[in-house]
Amino acid sequence: MSECLFCRIAAKEIPSSMVYEDEKIFAFNDINPQAPVHILVIPKEHIPSITDVKDLSVVGELYNVINKLAEAKGVKATGFRVIVNHGKDSGQAVPHLHFHLLGGRHLHWPPG
Ligand code: 5GP
Ligand code: ZN
Repeated sequence: MSECLFCRIAAKEIPSSMVYEDEKIFAFNDINPQAPVHILVIPKEHIPSITDVKDLSVVGELYNVINKLAEAKGVKATGFRVIVNHGKDSGQAVPHLHFHLLGGRHLHWPPG
């Protein structure tokens, strides 16, 4: 059994509020949402961070799902933000690559 939290969520060993799944990608609502729409979109494969991506096609697959979810959640028209944290200064807390999809309210810029 993996010790990685997001691997375990993608394997459904740990429950989550899933919003999308296919062969390679899993998406679920953030447990501590920072906006009305706050979804985490992850590869099922364990990739620790954005700097560890070897096969760049996974990034396209993640964005394809992000676009579908933005439309499905109604934020394609109103606007949304995609965030990937890497490392200490960004506050990355979970060492499994995840794209935050945020929307449903005005998102301040620049972020803190
Ligand atoms: P990071 O700071 O690593 O970019 O973001 C990690 C995100 O994962 C945070 O927004 C946090 O709320 C979310 N998170 C942490 N643990 C869990 C969990 O067990 N379930 C869900 N759904 N989200 C989690
Ligand atoms: Zn993992």
